[in-house]
Amino acid sequence: PFDFQGKHVTVAGLGVSGVPAAKALHARGAAVTVVNDGDDARARAQAEELRALGVTVRLGDGATLPEGTGLIVTAPGWQPGKPLFLAAREAGVPVWGDVELAWRLRGPGAAPWLAVTGTNGKTTTVQMLAAILKAAGLRTAAVGNIGVSLLDAVLGEETYDVLAVELSSYQLHWAPSLRADSAAVLNLAPDHLDWHGSMEAYAADKGRIYQGNRVACVYNAADRLTEDLVREADVEEGCRAVGFTLGTPAPSQLGVVDGILVDRAFVEDRHKNAQELAEVSDVNPPAPHNIANALAAAALARAFGVPATAVRDGLRAFRPDAHRITHVADIDGVAYVDDSKATNTHAAEASLAAYEPIVWIAGGLAKGATFDELVAKSAKRLRAAVLIGADRALIRDALARHAPEVPVVDLERTDTGAMLQAVTEAKRLAQPGDTVLLAPACASMDMFTNYNQRGDAFAEAVRELGA
Ligand code: ADP
Repeated sequence: PFDFQGKHVTVAGLGVSGVPAAKALHARGAAVTVVNDGDDARARAQAEELRALGVTVRLGDGATLPEGTGLIVTAPGWQPGKPLFLAAREAGVPVWGDVELAWRLRGPGAAPWLAVTGTNGKTTTVQMLAAILKAAGLRTAAVGNIGVSLLDAVLGEETYDVLAVELSSYQLHWAPSLRADSAAVLNLAPDHLDWHGSMEAYAADKGRIYQGNRVACVYNAADRLTEDLVREADVEEGCRAVGFTLGTPAPSQLGVVDGILVDRAFVEDRHKNAQELAEVSDVNPPAPHNIANALAAAALARAFGVPATAVRDGLRAFRPDAHRITHVADIDGVAYVDDSKATNTHAAEASLAAYEPIVWIAGGLAKGATFDELVAKSAKRLRAAVLIGADRALIRDALARHAPEVPVVDLERTDTGAMLQAVTEAKRLAQPGDTVLLAPACASMDMFTNYNQRGDAFAEAVRELGA
C-alpha cells in the first residue's frame, strides 16, 4: 500500500468525497490541506470539523496550489482545466480522484471490483448486479454515486467478497491505476462534453474502466463505440470481450431469444451452446433499455462465476430507484410518469421510446448538448411539449425544425413554482390514453437542487392537480 506518512496532500473540494478523503489521509499520517472554492455555511461547518482534527482548510480559494504539495486528491467534479491542476502539472504533482484514493487504500486481499460506467443506466445496472451477487450468497454492496461511498466500502468495518462499483466519467478521468476484475461500458452518447472538452476525451475517460481487466470486458453490441473501447484497452492475458444484445446473441455474447435472457459467453454445460438465465418479465420494468441493463449486470455476475439461478432471483428481487420512469398517478385517463433522472438526451430518448402519445415536459441545463436527434426520433410520439428551464430555447428550436406541427408551451419562469404551471399546461394538452412524461433531457440545477427535487416537485404538482 501507498505510504502517506509525512506527505503533503492537498484535498481539492470539501463535500461528499472531500471530507472522508481528508480524514482518511490525515489518519494515515499525511499533512493535509483542504482547498475549497466556496465559503458558505456548510463549508464552514465542515471546515470546523476538519480543523479540530488538525487538518488545514482554506476556504474561498480553490485555485492556488499550496506550497509543498506532493499529491492532490480531488473531488471528481473538478474540471481538469482548473488553474489548480495546471499548476500541479507544471510542478509535476500527481492528481488522484476519490476512486483512485479508494483503490490505493484497499488492503491486501480486498474484494475485487466489478465496475460499471456508461452515459445512462449505471445506477440501475449496479443495483441489479448487487442484487444478483446477493442472490448468489455473496457479501457485496452497490457503491459509488449511490448508497455506500467507495471510501466507506474500502475502509469501513464491513468485509465484502466483491463490490459492484458505479463509476462516472469524471471519476474515471482521475483514476489512472484502477484495475477492475471485470467492467462494463453500457452505452456512450454525448454528455458532460463541457467538462471533458470533446466526445473523444469523454470516450477515452470512459474507456479507462477496461484498463487492466482480468476476467471480462463487457460491451454493448448495439453501440460500436463501446466495442471500440474494448479493442483499444490494454487488458490482462485471458481477459475476454463479452457483448450484450437485445437480439439473438452470437458466441461470447448475452442476449434475448423468445423472451428469455440467454448467455452464450459463460456456458456451464459444455454440451449446450447457451445457458438460459431469466425471462424478460423478470426485469423490472421490462423496457428495452432496462433489459440491456439487466444483460450487462448478468454478464458481470457470470464473469464472476455466479450461477444462472442467482441471475434470475436477483433480477426478481431488484426494485428501481425513485425518479427513474416512476409512475406517479393516473388522472382522467392520463398517466403521469416521472423520469427526472433522464438528465441527458440519450436517457430521454429511452423513456420517450416507451410511451405514445406523450405530452413531454422537458428543459433545464443542456450541458452543451444538442437536441435535433432526440426530437427528430421522438417527434411522431409527441402530442405536445411543455418547456421549462434555462436552456429551453434549444429544445424549442429543435422542435420547430423537426416537429413543427407539435404544439409547444414555452414557460419563461424558472422559479420552483414553474413545475406546477408546467404540469397544469400538460394536463390541459393531454387526452385520455396519453402519458404526461417528465423526461427533461437536461440537468436540473438551474431550477432545483438536483433531479430528486425536480421529480418531487413534479409528483407534488400531479397530486395537487389530481386532488
Ligand atoms: P445513471 O446512473 O447512469 O445516471 P440510471 O440508472 O440512474 O443511470 O438511469 C438514469 C436514466 O437513464 C433513467 O431514468 C432512464 O431514463 C435512462 N436509462 C437507464 N438505462 C438506460 C440505458 N441502458 N440506455 C438509455 N437510457 C437509460
